[in-house]
Amino acid sequence: MSDSRAVAGSAAAHVVVVGSINMDMVSHSRRLPAPGETLMGEAFVMAPGGKGANQAVAAARLGARVGFVSRVGTRAHGRELLAALAEEGVDARGVQQDETALPGIAVIMVASEGGENSIVYVPGSNAQLLPADVQAAAPLLQAARVVVAQLEVPVPAIRCAFEMARAAGVITILNAAPALAEGAELLPLCDWLVLNETEAAQFAGLAVGGLAEAEAAAQALLARGPRQVLVTLGAQGALLADAAGLQLLPARAVKAVDTVGAGDTFVGGLATGLAEGMSPVEAVRLGQAAAAIAVSRSGVQSAMPRRSELQP
Ligand code: ATP
Repeated sequence: MSDSRAVAGSAAAHVVVVGSINMDMVSHSRRLPAPGETLMGEAFVMAPGGKGANQAVAAARLGARVGFVSRVGTRAHGRELLAALAEEGVDARGVQQDETALPGIAVIMVASEGGENSIVYVPGSNAQLLPADVQAAAPLLQAARVVVAQLEVPVPAIRCAFEMARAAGVITILNAAPALAEGAELLPLCDWLVLNETEAAQFAGLAVGGLAEAEAAAQALLARGPRQVLVTLGAQGALLADAAGLQLLPARAVKAVDTVGAGDTFVGGLATGLAEGMSPVEAVRLGQAAAAIAVSRSGVQSAMPRRSELQP
């Protein structure tokens, strides 16, 4: 941790992430089991996840000072999740600990032949994050330069955080993933709306596929309140829409090994760049540089780069 902070030096940013945290429990077997079938597995891995925690870790590795606002059930693996955040240097004073609840758990089965997967996600304490929990973290939120949220925690809690951020002149980023319809009420409170192509189509209520559709979705979403809409397009890069028009920012060309978590690494990088005072395009490029490294390695949080690994 000290390495990445040294790189950021006195310009250390301040990013607060309001979001989910969970334990991913991943089994690997040759194929996925049929209903009712028991299969022998080849490997099992347990790793911290959740879009909120992933984005917080991505930003911390890139040198941002990061605060996290969340609710964690401390039964079962909850304490390990908190320890993992501490190890990354993430400030968890805004995390409410609930001794009676289970943390979020994702049970993931991956087939080694073909790479298919099946996932059951049980949100646990993530579904219990209340506006009052966010209020309790007011000093952290008001002192931030950038507040980031995703849609894996209840919308009223995010609304509370964004209203507080807006009143304090803090930049707000909504990563509308998953693309839940109720998240639309947050659009007028967003400086940035970031979403992938599928989420953009769902959110805008338009067809998916191709750059022309992504452009139409970005423009439709821009008209609903955000100052910047960014549609990520995987290996193609990202489409930035704002008052000045549309701009395609190509991704860095790399050999992708595992693209899971690309979006979270990207958002962590974008938030870090904006908190450091970068222009929108420079901040997008920082996110893209970080995501390009992450997709070239396997894992999610374990694949996220430190600032010193990024080429200038
Ligand atoms: P995920 O849900 O898998 O975390 P996502 O669908 O939210 O990802 P993507 O659009 O796949 O997000 O990727 C986000 C950014 O990461 C892209 O804009 C791009 O800069 C970078 N990226 C993703 N895939 C690749 C790739 N194969 N090569 C280089 N960069 C990539």
